[in-house]
Parts: sequence; structure tokens; C-alpha cells
Amino acid sequence: MDVFDQAQKLDEQFRQAALNEHLAKNKDCHGGMRRLAMAGKRECRNCGNKIPKARLKVNPAAVRCIRCQDKWEKEGGIDD
Ligand SMILES: [Zn+2]
Repeated sequence: MDVFDQAQKLDEQFRQAALNEHLAKNKDCHGGMRRLAMAGKRECRNCGNKIPKARLKVNPAAVRCIRCQDKWEKEGGIDD
């Protein structure tokens, strides 16, 4: 992992943390969360399949489908 990968990983972690914090503060306000979920016709960064809407609703910051997320976590949660 070179310094750019590290920077990218940190950047992603920071964004996810900020997003989670924001969502935690705005539990009553589902609008933002729904908007994020709606905006997310997102694709899994590992396999390229669409991330299911239900998953994005639970975790709007998800960048992987459940299967790839599991695999990724089992492998130590390190971005390649
Ligand atoms: Zn996937």
C-alpha cells in the first residue's frame, strides 16, 4: 500500500465517520437518509453488482454489496 492508497483510505474513513455522525445526529430527519439511499443506484466497488436499496437504507455509506462486504471484512477490511 503506497501513500496515495493510505490517503484515499483515510479520506474514505473520514467521510464515512462524518456521514455516520451526521446520520446519528439526524435520526428524526429521515429525508437526508432517504435522499442518500435514493441517490444510490450504486454499484459494489468489488463485484460491480448493484448494491441493494435495502442495504443502502440501512447503511447509506455502503460501497459494497453484502457479500463483498463480508469478504472484505474477513480479509481484514483493507482496500486494495
Ligand atoms: Zn459485491
